[in-house]
Amino acid sequence: MPTSAAMRSPNFFAGGAVDRRADLRRDSDWLSEQLGQAGTRILPVWRSRSLMIMSDQPAAVMLASHEVETLLDPTRVAFLGLVEERAHFSLDLSHLEEEEVLAAFSSHGEFIDLRNTGGLLDPTEGNLLAYARGLAYWHERHRFCAVCGHPAESKDAGHIRRCTNPDCKAPHFPRTDPAVIMLVSDAADERCLLGQAPRFIPGMYSTLAGFVEPGESLEEAVAREVLEESGVPVTNVRYHSSQPWPFPASIMLGFYATATATEITLDKDELADAVWKTREELRNSPEDDSFRLPRGISIARRLIDDWIATG
Ligand SMILES: [Zn+2]
Repeated sequence: MPTSAAMRSPNFFAGGAVDRRADLRRDSDWLSEQLGQAGTRILPVWRSRSLMIMSDQPAAVMLASHEVETLLDPTRVAFLGLVEERAHFSLDLSHLEEEEVLAAFSSHGEFIDLRNTGGLLDPTEGNLLAYARGLAYWHERHRFCAVCGHPAESKDAGHIRRCTNPDCKAPHFPRTDPAVIMLVSDAADERCLLGQAPRFIPGMYSTLAGFVEPGESLEEAVAREVLEESGVPVTNVRYHSSQPWPFPASIMLGFYATATATEITLDKDELADAVWKTREELRNSPEDDSFRLPRGISIARRLIDDWIATG
């Protein structure tokens, strides 16, 4: 059996040393004061990309307030929390054209998709960038009230959007969509089931995954998704660990499950292929267009690596 999740290091994008301090989000005097402090750090986000320096050791670029002073629009700032007593804020610059962000930030770094850092970021930086990206995406996609259609405005330091229609005033909270992701092994625990979605890069196989539906438990979602995609019935669904996955707005909930039959019947809309693989085959993965494992930052890879280690 896998070691308990509590004994393991957190999955990538989780963990880190951010104290979110939700109690300070409504303290407008304190927030304004922090935005003027020399020690405060600002994390710019542009169209779901994070400002980073890419090298053998990628790093988040965190700027002092005075370096972005002309761009510090309070409606585009979100308070992320404290790290070593310093306030950290995200700054969403998605309204700027590409030439404008290049002109303003090319001397600091470049705007990169967080998924391309290969798991090499410091855990606190990875967590902060995932958090900032997730919030920025939510603001961008929830500009209008879902109840009455009037514009909604950012409140509580970027953690609520409230409808501006005085007859409505509905509050809207940041969304995180739960998705289950599961490694299914056969009854003897000798082979595991991996699938290839049509959108994957050539040769990549991964654990199956899918969104949780309304009125469904996580265990039921695991069993339903595996059966729908591969035709394989499962039992003994057990939790492994979770991972924030703001690409664009998910949390991945990782499970193991045991198949009660191994015949595969593919749902071709969901999977181009599915295979049973032994630990030996996975240890000797060719990592080329014929077969490759999912990338190291993903919980999929964590589920696979932990399963390999148990046999
Ligand atoms: Zn409204």
